[in-house]
Amino acid sequence: MEFLPTQTETITPRQNGSPREYRQLSPEQLVDLAIDTRIAHAEKHGAISGDESFFVVDLGEVSRQHQRWKRNLPDVQPYYAVKCNSDPPLLKYLAGLNTGFDCASIEEMRSVLDRGVHSNRILFANPCKSQSSLVFAQKAGILRTTFDNIDELDSIKAHMPEAQLLLRIYANDDSALVPLGEKYGAHLDTVRILLSRVKELGLHLVGVSFHVGTGSSNPSSFCQAIKDARYAFLQAQQLGLRPTVLDIGGGFEDNSFERITSSIRNAIGSGFSSGITIIAEPGRFYARGAYTLACRVISKRRQMTSAAAAGIPDMLYQNDGIYGNFMNVIMEKEVMVPRLAGGRHSPRPFLGDFEGHREEEGDVYKYSIWGPTCDSIDRVVRETSFYCELYSYFAKASN
Ligand SMILES: *Cc1c(COP(=O)(O)O)cnc(C)c1O
Repeated sequence: MEFLPTQTETITPRQNGSPREYRQLSPEQLVDLAIDTRIAHAEKHGAISGDESFFVVDLGEVSRQHQRWKRNLPDVQPYYAVKCNSDPPLLKYLAGLNTGFDCASIEEMRSVLDRGVHSNRILFANPCKSQSSLVFAQKAGILRTTFDNIDELDSIKAHMPEAQLLLRIYANDDSALVPLGEKYGAHLDTVRILLSRVKELGLHLVGVSFHVGTGSSNPSSFCQAIKDARYAFLQAQQLGLRPTVLDIGGGFEDNSFERITSSIRNAIGSGFSSGITIIAEPGRFYARGAYTLACRVISKRRQMTSAAAAGIPDMLYQNDGIYGNFMNVIMEKEVMVPRLAGGRHSPRPFLGDFEGHREEEGDVYKYSIWGPTCDSIDRVVRETSFYCELYSYFAKASN
């Protein structure tokens, strides 16, 4: 089974010049409209082109998140973490909003440079880099980079001697969806040795960074990390280095954003003078809510005899699964809540991946949802209910 890169339909933020009916649609209705339009297009041009799942990105949502960022963290410059989602329309839109970019590989640096972003708006935030990526970054003029171990410093000295270094310190929110502390981050008792080596090698330290882990809802992990960064700043100053940049990383969780950022503002205010530059590396905060995935039911297994009697839900097989865009079901045990695309106006046998509205009350139809591979681990949803019965596209078409 081969998965091609999934295509994206793009909804641009509404302008004053947009048609009136269009401006009156809610963001969810706009997404539905884009899905309907795409499906209608696929139907017109033969079923094959409609066989792959596709994303709809609502760039208006990216814009709303950016406004929310600026309201809550007005003094923190966001560097969007490209690894989260490197879809070209999103990168282009963020470039237009003047955010910076956090890249972790040559491919990511290239995709951002290709959007016309200046190298000084890019941060190479991978603490353990290959030599070739250092050479690439140096050539492209992307000089700001992170490190967290002593050997990396020798490699930087050899391949990117003009680097502007951020020491990545250990931070961890145990309750985060994806903790990163086990992989990266210098422990506080190694900070002195690392900074001494920076000085010995004649390298340039510009600041300190951390990442508390993806999906962090615990303000105290940010506060602890900011305190630890303060400690690293002091250590650096004692060695005669002059750090000026504090990078508070990513991990901003949507639901707790206002609460977390209020604690962050307080922690920064009490630990740092106003003279420093503060940056962050949000990923999901910008990308997650903006994307909707539309899938098609390709086949259905109706339970019969004893399975039906035991109440085992009918099984739907769709055109995307855990080896495609639903990797998070396995990696993060994410529970997907599908809804029918097209809304109540034109119920269609397609599924999206986010929480939905209720169809008309009535009979409830229960389903489990599976991906297209023959691997039994390829299950997207254990059990879900709809208020209407679902059919695969072709079954319905031939009715
Ligand atoms: C993954 C990652 C991010 C983004 O994390 P989110 O939780 O998506 O905000 C930022 N910086 C680094 C170094 C990362 O590895």
